[in-house]
Amino acid sequence: MKHFAILGAGMAGITAARTLVQAGHRVSVYEQAAQVGGRMATRDTPWGSFDIGAQYFTVRDQRFSQALQVVPGTSACVRPWSANAVRVLDPLGHVVEAARPTREAHFVATPGMQSLVAHWAAPLLASGAVHLGTRVERLARDRLDATRWQLELQGEQTVVVGGFDAVLCALPHAQTTQLLRLSGADAAATGLIDHLHGVTVAPCWTLMLAFPQASQPTLGYLGPQWNVARSTHHRIAWLARESSKPRRSSVERWTVQASPEWSLEHVQDDPARVEAKLLKAFAELTGIRAQPAQVLSHRWGQAKTIKALGTSHVYLPQHGLGTCGDWHLGHRVEDAFVSGLSLALAVH
Ligand SMILES: Cc1cc2nc3c(=O)[nH]c(=O)nc-3n(C[C@H](O)[C@H](O)[C@H](O)COP(=O)(O)OP(=O)(O)OC[C@H]3O[C@@H](n4cnc5c(N)ncnc54)[C@H](O)[C@@H]3O)c2cc1C
Repeated sequence: MKHFAILGAGMAGITAARTLVQAGHRVSVYEQAAQVGGRMATRDTPWGSFDIGAQYFTVRDQRFSQALQVVPGTSACVRPWSANAVRVLDPLGHVVEAARPTREAHFVATPGMQSLVAHWAAPLLASGAVHLGTRVERLARDRLDATRWQLELQGEQTVVVGGFDAVLCALPHAQTTQLLRLSGADAAATGLIDHLHGVTVAPCWTLMLAFPQASQPTLGYLGPQWNVARSTHHRIAWLARESSKPRRSSVERWTVQASPEWSLEHVQDDPARVEAKLLKAFAELTGIRAQPAQVLSHRWGQAKTIKALGTSHVYLPQHGLGTCGDWHLGHRVEDAFVSGLSLALAVH
């Protein structure tokens, strides 16, 4: 039995952790956020929840399909969602491409996208293997045993924990390279960072809007007949009526994702300014000019992989150091799953 440190409790990290535990190993997962899920994130508000990261997932990979079927209780927290009726809008909000039924099913986790990773992480959390609210600041060779690794962790206080046979980074690309740079000579000596060049990941501003007034019986719901659209508007790439997803609150709510180009250009902007600009574009695209009862925004520094690494994972067995995460393969939930699984199988 080996002891693995896994950094990050998104889909990739939790998949790697589960696989290694099933193979008889010990894992310690460190996650800076207060909950698991990473970019499969759900924000609760008084008007209902918003999926502020991944909107839905596809199931193209056989191993992902199998995991969804065999992990007990998973089918209860996954539902199909008719996002394949997605429209394509021109910058004025006209539908330029009608709903095209595709053969590919789209799924959402319920009651929020975060629920799938939360469900898969539950046994790890119950056994005390997941440490939430714990940011990994540095890694170094263990002072007591140079064949192993130790981590500097920032939670309520700074602590150093050692004795790891290997460290597996399941972080977004920028955080992985930053951690390796900050870790100094021991990490640099492995040369891992040289394997991670050429990846590009775009930011994304996300807008959350609630229109509780639309729930009044006389109004029905506001705006367009469609629930999901991609758009060629220079500010907005994606719009979805959250209330159309299964097992969500019925209050009319929209999640809007800015385009990668616009998000990059405005990445440093003040949230209030971003909200005003995206709200204006939202009104142009949907015709909904009512004032939302709630306007919230979230900035993802690392959202969508534009250029992937092109390999499912990286593992340096001589150093006991590896990486996984969606950016190795692409920009989807499935890519994160396959990457986490591949790394775990490689180290095992
Ligand atoms: C706006 C948006 C929309 C998306 N839409 C879709 C979609 O519709 N369909 C789809 O399939 N995919 C979509 N995605 C992509 C999908 O969310 C990701 O591919 C997937 O969730 C990535 O999982 P991961 O485990 O690789 O990384 P993450 O989920 O990012 O997990 C990494 C974890 O590492 C933690 N972390 C970072 N630094 C540290 C540190 N120093 N110490 C400890 N922990 C740390 C983070 O808090 C995070 O929890 C979207 C993403 C975004 C942002």
